[in-house]
Amino acid sequence: MLKGTAASEGIGIGKVLVIEEHSLEYTPKTVVDTESELSRFEQAVEKFCENTTEQAEAIRKSTGDKEAQILEGHIQIIKDPYLMSEIEKLISGGMCAESALEQMCDLFITMFSAADDELTKQRAADVKDIKTAILSILLGIQELKISDAPKGTVLVADELTPSMTAGIVKENIVGIVTQTGGKTSHSAILARALEIPAVLSVENAVEILKNGQEIVVDGSDGIVITNPDSNQIKEYTAKSEAFIQERRELEKYRGQKTVSKSGEEYELFCNIGKPEDAVKAMEADGEGVGLFRTEFLFMDRSSIPTEDEQFEAYKKAALILKGKSLIIRTLDIGGDKDLPYLGLEKEENPFMGFRAIRYCLKNSELFKAQIRAILRASAFGDVKIMFPLVTTVDEVRAGKKIVEEAKLELKAENIAYDENIKVGVMMETSSAAVIADLLAKEADFFSIGTNDLTGYTMACDRGNSDVSYLYSALQPSVLRLIKNIIKCGNENNIPVGMCGEAAANPQMIPLLISFGLTEFSVSAPSVLKVRKNISKWTKSDADAVAEKVMALSTEKEIDEFLKSMI
Ligand code: PEP
Ligand code: MG
Repeated sequence: MLKGTAASEGIGIGKVLVIEEHSLEYTPKTVVDTESELSRFEQAVEKFCENTTEQAEAIRKSTGDKEAQILEGHIQIIKDPYLMSEIEKLISGGMCAESALEQMCDLFITMFSAADDELTKQRAADVKDIKTAILSILLGIQELKISDAPKGTVLVADELTPSMTAGIVKENIVGIVTQTGGKTSHSAILARALEIPAVLSVENAVEILKNGQEIVVDGSDGIVITNPDSNQIKEYTAKSEAFIQERRELEKYRGQKTVSKSGEEYELFCNIGKPEDAVKAMEADGEGVGLFRTEFLFMDRSSIPTEDEQFEAYKKAALILKGKSLIIRTLDIGGDKDLPYLGLEKEENPFMGFRAIRYCLKNSELFKAQIRAILRASAFGDVKIMFPLVTTVDEVRAGKKIVEEAKLELKAENIAYDENIKVGVMMETSSAAVIADLLAKEADFFSIGTNDLTGYTMACDRGNSDVSYLYSALQPSVLRLIKNIIKCGNENNIPVGMCGEAAANPQMIPLLISFGLTEFSVSAPSVLKVRKNISKWTKSDADAVAEKVMALSTEKEIDEFLKSMI
């Protein structure tokens, strides 16, 4: 039995598929037989073109012609006569195919990256993709496609990156096991959104678990059972059925308002990553969307989605929600969310670096296109804009200035949008929490992102299992910041919601009721459970619990006290 972090509830029984990241390292060689090296290179290019054509055809069927053409463009790039003849010259001079390919590709990547226009810059990312794909062929590395995983698969990986997760076919994946990542890592959030049982932070999982091996993933208790015997299969099948039964019982909260025992009403929204998730949010009985993580629209593709493509996506979500609130967060990339085609430089400390609103304000063309797309979608529903990772008042003002510019442009172009669109701030840095009084004067609403707020406040990476003992929104420091944010929002008459994972934590609910939170935004599968948990508390009972909690000194004391209360 292996132990890890219970990250997504439920039981999965299936066969292991290990996703290994292959190193593209090699030892450069001088070749004597340059003729056969040339033909090795040409064969690799042919294989690359074949693979790319196949992928493009599949994408043409599943997504569309435009996306397929992007991939087909890669064939044109590698077949460029200048690039090919320069690589061949290097090989004829005795360089091995890997080095020759890398040297020439790197030259092009540097050249394209230095360009001023976005389009040429994107070419750098294309060449990077091509280099990686052909190097993999030359080194004999088999690339595995998650979307091809058969029914009954348990994915095992060091970490499931957001772009890897984008390829998951929900019907086929019964469980997820990773070596790294905590409860609020993106692997965990995605696993919960997909309702796939997941156990994370399982030490050496990639080494221990073997392809094809049968395992049980207990995402409720954070346990992985290898090679289960018939009794264990029976036991876990029963556990799985009980879990499904519990879900069924929650059904009585469907269609009900979200109210506390003493009658205060709350808004209960969902977090989504794709426009189609808005359907899941509605099916789950969510009352709107409190967080649309737009970065997922930018992932699993090789170029930035255009303003029109984004507009269609946001409009689609707005139409599905039929006038219910839709809070669209502007692009939050960087940190653990990389977009290879943006060619972002590797940073020593990406979580403290060039991400989210910081990146967008420096790349105003990309930012403006997104804001215009959101504004255009605001003509089709109750759409709101939210800025991520805010640390200063200046950032909010600069972001709002771009919103105003975009409005003027649209007006001049006679394009409809909501003149009074609300612009909110995601409260997820310690700085934002401390200056919540100042930010409340700039923002139309707050949404507390406890996933990052906990990380930044505790100076602790949410994905690092060595420091996960510190990572808790129940830490006295984090609770004080949450309380301050809500107090400042209430004093300035702006609504305050919470879209971080803590919003669904039953221990947190009495505290949030007492502090004066008005909106909870959670993953779709948590909606009914949160509604049930809110209904258990009167305001005065919640106040009594909060008063006691705020007088306690350690996370352990708080955790134990709250466990005894629920
Ligand atoms: C958060 O930080 O709490 C949040 C909701 O944003 P994300 O998890 O996407 O960083
Ligand atoms: Mg965040």
